[in-house]
Amino acid sequence: MATELLSVDDAVNIIRRDYFDNVQRVADDLRSRMESDEITTRDDLYEALTESIDSHQRVIYTFQAKLGMLVTDNAEAMEDETGETGTIEQQMFFAMQADVRAQLERDGFDLNEPFTCAECKKTFDERDIARACCG
Ligand SMILES: [Zn+2]
Repeated sequence: MATELLSVDDAVNIIRRDYFDNVQRVADDLRSRMESDEITTRDDLYEALTESIDSHQRVIYTFQAKLGMLVTDNAEAMEDETGETGTIEQQMFFAMQADVRAQLERDGFDLNEPFTCAECKKTFDERDIARACCG
């Protein structure tokens, strides 16, 4: 018998799930690099985020960028941040960074002060300062 066709909504949901799976992986990778002391300052975190996205297949490959731009929560990120429209890959670069930042926030990180004192839960922009807080 005839195969049941997916609706467009179903197809978009699959693309969305695939894209946000990529976003979650980048966020998880940054988080584990903070936990393993590879990233110890807010500046390091933002640099690592930029590098991760800059080399990501979503940004490198035009087709992947098109799919990502279809489902991102931050399609206007490049125009908002730079005032320019750019190529689809450039738009994806800004949009995916914004999506990863949003994911980290949903995961409980204050991106301005991503390091937390284990004792009093106060947040800081550097790991060493957070560790010295109640220590
Ligand atoms: Zn403290």
